[in-house]
Amino acid sequence: MCNLKKTVLITGASRGIGKACAEIFAKRGWQVVLGYNKSESEVKQLEVSLSLKGFSVLALQADVTNQEQVKQMFIEARRVYGSIDVLVNNAGISQFRLFTDITEQEWDLMFDTHCKAAFFCTQCALEDMISNKKGSIVNVSSMWGQVGASCEVHYSASKAAIIGLTKALAKELGPSNIRVNCVAPGVIETDMMKAVSEEIKDSLCDETPLMRLGSAEEIAKAVFFLASNESSFITGQILGVNGGFVI
Ligand code: NAD
Repeated sequence: MCNLKKTVLITGASRGIGKACAEIFAKRGWQVVLGYNKSESEVKQLEVSLSLKGFSVLALQADVTNQEQVKQMFIEARRVYGSIDVLVNNAGISQFRLFTDITEQEWDLMFDTHCKAAFFCTQCALEDMISNKKGSIVNVSSMWGQVGASCEVHYSASKAAIIGLTKALAKELGPSNIRVNCVAPGVIETDMMKAVSEEIKDSLCDETPLMRLGSAEEIAKAVFFLASNESSFITGQILGVNGGFVI
């Protein structure tokens, strides 16, 4: 297949940071695979609105914790677009729980959604990248993976694991000309923050040197930078996009 356009696959692309990533890649002329799990109507709306603007997008369903579904998503993405140039491991969940109340099931779901999913998706993406001797992977971690958050121990630990995965994989894949980087967002105004009270949000703003929450678009710009050739000599790095919360 002769295709000069680059292709990105983004997990969790129906809303929030994933959606903002999809929009920025599409606007810059990339072919975008919108990975989603349950939010079919949201993702279809996004697919239609971007297609109507003349962008090349394709929504594909896969629960990223399910290896078989992830494999099928990549098979279909390749059937339509050819090889995958960039993978953005963005899908995620959050949960506020005292450490002593976390169940084994909740712990496993947190690690499966962040770590096992990145393992499954990255293995699939590498099928093209290793043979093409090029590619870029961007993982979405969190500043809580860098410094830890009270009442989010399983979230913080799984996001810290993503940082470890990023660094180790960057070393292993560097000789294959594949870069692996990570964005560690601060507090970003998305659906994930809906469970957080206005009072807590205000105190998080107060703790942020830039005195405000971030937007999904601000994270997407950092993801795009790390995915694109603009960062061609950057690998294994954790880019904090947090308004100065973690310095
Ligand atoms: P969000 O809840 O709006 O979006 C998360 C997306 O992941 C949703 O589309 C959801 O359907 C998808 N998803 C969840 N489980 C999935 C599964 N099993 N299979 C496929 N898709 C699944 O949240 P967001 O703020 O846009 O979060 C995006 C990423 O950014 C997450 O990894 C999150 O941990 C990270 N992050 C967010 C913040 C923040 O303050 N919002 C801060 C740091 C890191």
